[in-house]
Amino acid sequence: MKKLKFCPKCGSTKIYWASGLPQLWSIWECKECGYRGAFVIEDSESAAKIREIHLKSVEKEKAVKG
Ligand SMILES: [Zn+2]
Repeated sequence: MKKLKFCPKCGSTKIYWASGLPQLWSIWECKECGYRGAFVIEDSESAAKIREIHLKSVEKEKAVKG
């Protein structure tokens, strides 16, 4: 079974290995929110919750901006 990886900030699956960086440790980059870090989520249930919260906050931001 293939493990999915999720962004810990927005819950997106658009998370990619950020290659070409000088760091020796693993860095992931989210194409959706711009998150960069060594930590990713592999639990789809947690990711779904983060996704829900993230989408709500994006909606709120849109509402404020008009
Ligand atoms: Zn993200």
